[in-house]
Amino acid sequence: MPNTKLFIKGNLINQKNSDAFLIENGMIKKTGKTKNLLGKYKNLSEVIDLNNQYVTPAFNDGHLHYFYYSLLKDSIDLKNCESIEQVYNKIKSKAGQAPEDSWITVINWDEEQFGGVKKLDRYVLDKLSKNIPILVKRRCLHLAFVNSKALELANINKETKDPAGGKIVRDKEGYPTGELQDESIGIIDDIVLEKQRKRFKNILKNSAKDFLKRGITSIHTDDLGHKKYREDIFKSYYELANDKEIPLDITLQLRVTKKDDFDYYKKIREQTKDIKGLKTGPVKFMFDGSLGGRTAALRKHYTDDTTTKGELLFDKEKLEELVERAYQLDFQPAIHAIGIKAVEIVSKIYERMNKKYPHKNLRPIIVHASMLDDKLIDRVKKNNIVLSIQPTFISSDYKMADKRLGKRRAKSLYRMRSLLEKGIHLAGSSDAPVEDINPLYGIYASVKRKKPNQPQEKSWHPNEIIDIKKARELYTTGPAYQNFEEDIKGKIKEGYKADFITFNKNLFNIKSEDIINLKVRSVYKKGDLVFES
Ligand SMILES: [Zn+2]
Repeated sequence: MPNTKLFIKGNLINQKNSDAFLIENGMIKKTGKTKNLLGKYKNLSEVIDLNNQYVTPAFNDGHLHYFYYSLLKDSIDLKNCESIEQVYNKIKSKAGQAPEDSWITVINWDEEQFGGVKKLDRYVLDKLSKNIPILVKRRCLHLAFVNSKALELANINKETKDPAGGKIVRDKEGYPTGELQDESIGIIDDIVLEKQRKRFKNILKNSAKDFLKRGITSIHTDDLGHKKYREDIFKSYYELANDKEIPLDITLQLRVTKKDDFDYYKKIREQTKDIKGLKTGPVKFMFDGSLGGRTAALRKHYTDDTTTKGELLFDKEKLEELVERAYQLDFQPAIHAIGIKAVEIVSKIYERMNKKYPHKNLRPIIVHASMLDDKLIDRVKKNNIVLSIQPTFISSDYKMADKRLGKRRAKSLYRMRSLLEKGIHLAGSSDAPVEDINPLYGIYASVKRKKPNQPQEKSWHPNEIIDIKKARELYTTGPAYQNFEEDIKGKIKEGYKADFITFNKNLFNIKSEDIINLKVRSVYKKGDLVFES
């Protein structure tokens, strides 16, 4: 008999008629009652008692940056800092102990956490260290701040030109202030990356457990934007998958800025064809920035800065040309668009492409699609556009969003219930390292629309709250659909992969405030135990 395992006495959430399932070669062959299946199947390789633990399909994260998440594990994380003094002290003390040749990298800076007034620049950071280079990234990753030492090592000075798609902010005399926007951050990333190049594979491997611990066994990761390093990063993923070194299914999202990029991606699509656990997914384009950085493209000015409407990072025609190339080469397209203007242009491009290539069922994706009006929602539905959304943006950003857009306009953000009622496919994700990878935070944000652990806070636009079953689907069937895997992933059902989690409590039957405290007890990938707490 092939490798057959019978799992018995599980509490399958929402599946009343079965508490057991048979697995053959990693796939679910049969579900049913323990008594019946035990009687029916003999000569099993193994019988595993789930001890009445609650069983749910494993989670799937539809968009994140695994490599950058892994890199940032060495960084100072400001997420839970309560005061600006605490921020300064953390950086200062790490700089004080840092070896001469090293860099201090800091993540999750968010001025809103400290009243929204404080801006970082080299003058502030030089007070923390003059000799050790410091790089501080804003939570949205579209803004960064460096000290003078970092500017010096990166050769960024008065004469340096702004790179395409980026800006080096300068003072009145033209000297860089240490604030870097979008692509100009890449100049610094480059130097930091060069230091870590040889360790890429280990850096990736070291993070796998973080994901398993949260019940995640599939991820869609966008890491190949850095052309200089993309072959090294790809090779690391390739070797890890080929040698079965990480128990995660990885779909690579392929960052495109130029036509030539398609040649490279065609090559690696071919190379990964027969590799289990690694596949190439959509080609990804960046079209606007972020709300936090006021670079998401709007139709009208920002409420808290009337000098800007955000910006488009691509020429519309050029973007359309590249998307057409994707259609011709059968690459699923995925475009980052947050502001309503960007989302509108992208949906129109997809509409034209779907008309021109009616037989290509590519399931085009808009990554984020944060702002939508009713007309746009209809267009998204009509063109079967998948929205790759981040529910935790609600709990992290709603106060900032009200400021940036004004309360009325902010109603067009994160309209999850309206989207689901229209039957639009939503794939939930963390966008890590932007947000925490734990899907339970996203589920909480979807059903509460507020920050956790703040009982006095009210839900933000509660009319867009969704129920917990739909919230879970955002992290199971949603990303599976995005990746053309809806027939094999996201359910505990015959014909599906045996990727599942056990919990100590029933996710569907607890107080919503307790969702984030649920503990994953065990994780199975294709029927094999890959994590246990
Ligand atoms: Zn992202």
